[in-house]
Amino acid sequence: MEIFILIVFMGLLALIPARIAASKGRDPGVWWFYGFFLFIIAIIHVALVSDTVGATEQKAVAAGNLKCPHCAEWIKREAKVCRHCGRDVEPPAGSAMRATAVSP
Ligand SMILES: [Zn+2]
Repeated sequence: MEIFILIVFMGLLALIPARIAASKGRDPGVWWFYGFFLFIIAIIHVALVSDTVGATEQKAVAAGNLKCPHCAEWIKREAKVCRHCGRDVEPPAGSAMRATAVSP
């Protein structure tokens, strides 16, 4: 009975590195398995591992950024001029409507 409780506890504990890995764009199943057998190593490893390119882009979009169509660097959604290449940028239609709605 104690071994069953231990296995369930290890499975629940392994969800921690799996959730962190998923937030960094990595496969949570692989990290759950890793955390189940080597929790201490997996939790340190997942803290040190970097975000994938897809996860980085998702976080940038969620933070209200978009890519400059000329140089592909991340800029603020409300930007009219790219701070990287200095070229004019058309703000997306949604943010322009939101800006006019906010102004009195
Ligand atoms: Zn640019």
